[in-house]
Amino acid sequence: MKYKNIDKILPNNLHRQFLLHKDEYEKKALEILNSGWYILGKEVTTFEKEWADYIGTKYCVGLASGLDALWISFKILGIKENDEVIVCSNDYIACVMGITINGATPVFVEPDEFYNIDVDKIEEKISDKTKAILAVHLFGQSCDMTKIMDIAKKYNLYVVEDCAQSHGNHWKDKVVGSIGDIGCFSFYPSKGCGAFGDAGCITTNNAELAKKVIIFRNYGSEKRYYNETVGTNSRLDELQAGLLRVKLKHMNSLNKERVKLADRYNKGIKNELIIKPKVKKNADSTWHQYVIRCLYRNELMEYLDKNNIGTLIHYPIPPHLSQAYEYLGFKVGDFPIAEKYANEVLSLPMYNGMTKEEQDKVINAINRFKI
Ligand SMILES: *Cc1c(COP(=O)(O)O)cnc(C)c1O
Repeated sequence: MKYKNIDKILPNNLHRQFLLHKDEYEKKALEILNSGWYILGKEVTTFEKEWADYIGTKYCVGLASGLDALWISFKILGIKENDEVIVCSNDYIACVMGITINGATPVFVEPDEFYNIDVDKIEEKISDKTKAILAVHLFGQSCDMTKIMDIAKKYNLYVVEDCAQSHGNHWKDKVVGSIGDIGCFSFYPSKGCGAFGDAGCITTNNAELAKKVIIFRNYGSEKRYYNETVGTNSRLDELQAGLLRVKLKHMNSLNKERVKLADRYNKGIKNELIIKPKVKKNADSTWHQYVIRCLYRNELMEYLDKNNIGTLIHYPIPPHLSQAYEYLGFKVGDFPIAEKYANEVLSLPMYNGMTKEEQDKVINAINRFKI
């Protein structure tokens, strides 16, 4: 496709993925607007079935966001005050909020060189209060799920997978979100299968857990106006579900395109100041982000900005140092690897519909960067 020349390359360009299948989205949106049914209807039910098939689970329950998927999962697993949940010190703040909204305590474990939880450091953090491990598949790459499932079995812990950034990623021959007790997904627009607004879901093979989420998302009621428990409103709407169905049809080619973009970065970037991302054995990557590291990260970011190339930092402040979690009482130096990453990581422009010309501009600029 030919795009209008733009002055600045954005870190993420959501308009492009819309343009790739514009006619199909427009047709579906109009169809739903004309249907007269907007909440929890056939689009949601069909999407839930299609997403469960894509992930390889028996059930999928649509929700309003990824954060809802996380906290509702912990809630229905019975995780509450005085319980502990293991999570990586390098993860997105929403992962931690999913735990603390229920009053539980996050117990941080440092990341490995792939930016995911270091599975060799989990066992030393398990106490008699530990109830679950939250395995966050960050940047489009699976955690070591074999090791995590072994540890969970040994200590009788739940495993919740946060697959917000890894739609369609594999661990061995399984798709993430089908391995632990529950998989949590966000369909925030920038995510792999991004919606055109907020949306999320859970996946599971456990009929009882799926049923609990179905009831909880709709004020604790299965039958209208008969409420079994105090629930919440976290419904996926028909418009988002319908648009997600359109995108899901193209997920394999969208993910393939990102792998191609990452390959071009891997081959093209040749600057000793840059550490490129790696993919671990048994995993693949859908490249939710292409994250490099550089000791002169801030200088690099400024230099690229001057060259009209936008970048982002995922994430500048690790959760244990965030103001929101001051009450946990951590200080600088408590999780040195997560802190080092926060100071060195930079996410390069990466989006479906990115042109070769745009990518060459990024690669050439990075290769010219000196300090
Ligand atoms: C985006 C994201 C979330 C939160 O999803 P929302 O839909 O924005 O609530 C949770 N975890 C991870 C890893 C994410 O990237």
